[in-house]
Amino acid sequence: MNHATDQYQDLREAVRDLCSQFPAEYFRKVDEERGYPEAFVDALTKAGWLAALIPQEYGGSGLGLTEASIIMEEINRSGGNSGACHGQMYNMGTLLRHGSDAQKERYLPRIASGELRLQSMGVTEPTTGTDTTKIKTTAVRKGDRYVINGQKVWISRVLHSDMMILLARTTPLADVKKKSEGMSIFLVDLHEAVGKGLTIRPIPNMVNHETNELFFDNLEIPAENLIGEEGKGFKYILDGLNAERTLIAAECIGDGYWFIDKVSQYVKDRVVFGRPIGQNQGVQFPIARAYVNVEAANLMRFEAARRYDAHESCGTQANMAKLLAADASWEAANACLQFHGGFGFACEYDVERKFRETRLYQVAPISTNLILSYVAEHVLDLPRSF
Ligand SMILES: Cc1cc2nc3c(=O)[nH]c(=O)nc-3n(C[C@H](O)[C@H](O)[C@H](O)COP(=O)(O)OP(=O)(O)OC[C@H]3O[C@@H](n4cnc5c(N)ncnc54)[C@H](O)[C@@H]3O)c2cc1C
Repeated sequence: MNHATDQYQDLREAVRDLCSQFPAEYFRKVDEERGYPEAFVDALTKAGWLAALIPQEYGGSGLGLTEASIIMEEINRSGGNSGACHGQMYNMGTLLRHGSDAQKERYLPRIASGELRLQSMGVTEPTTGTDTTKIKTTAVRKGDRYVINGQKVWISRVLHSDMMILLARTTPLADVKKKSEGMSIFLVDLHEAVGKGLTIRPIPNMVNHETNELFFDNLEIPAENLIGEEGKGFKYILDGLNAERTLIAAECIGDGYWFIDKVSQYVKDRVVFGRPIGQNQGVQFPIARAYVNVEAANLMRFEAARRYDAHESCGTQANMAKLLAADASWEAANACLQFHGGFGFACEYDVERKFRETRLYQVAPISTNLILSYVAEHVLDLPRSF
């Protein structure tokens, strides 16, 4: 189906071309095996797409978040799942904007060449959830090292990454003026950490999303792995989080188009009561409405990405894009499953897999309620509820 075209058609075609070597059957098999799409991520890396945001001087292609979001969108639109590799794109936001020259020189060329993967970001904790400023993981300076203690949960792609960005408290909450102060971010070399203070426990889950619980027990990391200034980590990580929300909005948009294309074709072909089921307006309207909402979310995604690339404040737009896109893809997923009837539940149609995959984005990386709460408090100036 032809959706509206934009000025990124060459980029879209190139990514689609690569994705065509990894059709829905490939991702279905990976899902059935609860595996990792290693061959796909390798191909994406070799083609340079995962280094899109890395400046050319460090071996990347120096593109913006807008282009990065199109790469992610096209993967999901082709039937794949960017969740296996999107971390590298948004983690880049934090490292590029706040890493030192020495850190960039040391890591970026190796990430661009594919020698290193920076796929993980450790923020969420089991006892604090979305209330991030209450995190209990601590990093205490000891000479030229930081000693990390605490626990994280739902930390994705750790088993398929070489590096992780970690958020920890460097000043106790009781000793800071504002609760967002006193946290810092670090680069953790996962190979050096595992078995020497870091234990990883994978969490089997509804989606084929490699995600883990992490236990830190006196893990020592070099002090030079601190990103930016101590105590300002929360502010820095917001750049990564805004990039993440925008990219995931694009992935949901890709999912939305996938569901709409899939169901539109199906309802034209499926004949019941002597006519295609798609001839019934009761069938057409939910699909048409989902399409309208995906298109609208798409506009907000481009606005969020544009603002991010222009270094303008984009928290509101990134959050709104994520909410609109996650809702639209979920609406499209429901219509797609519904009008496939029983066949929607059969794995070979890929609908149930994509349905599970897109459902995640109502909860992660930030739940719909928390976005509404952000807009109510910070945009509409309504009374603070927590
Ligand atoms: C597959 C998967 C992968 C993930 N990957 C990562 C990762 O790589 N790194 C990472 O750091 N985190 C990751 N996460 C964590 C994810 O970001 C969190 O699950 C998410 O932010 C929600 O936090 P929580 O699970 O602690 O829910 P909670 O904070 O416990 O909230 C539970 C529910 O209650 C609602 N709620 C809570 N407070 C309020 C309120 N005041 N008003 C209204 N509603 C409220 C929320 O909206 C939510 O629906 C991942 C999660 C999953 C499931």
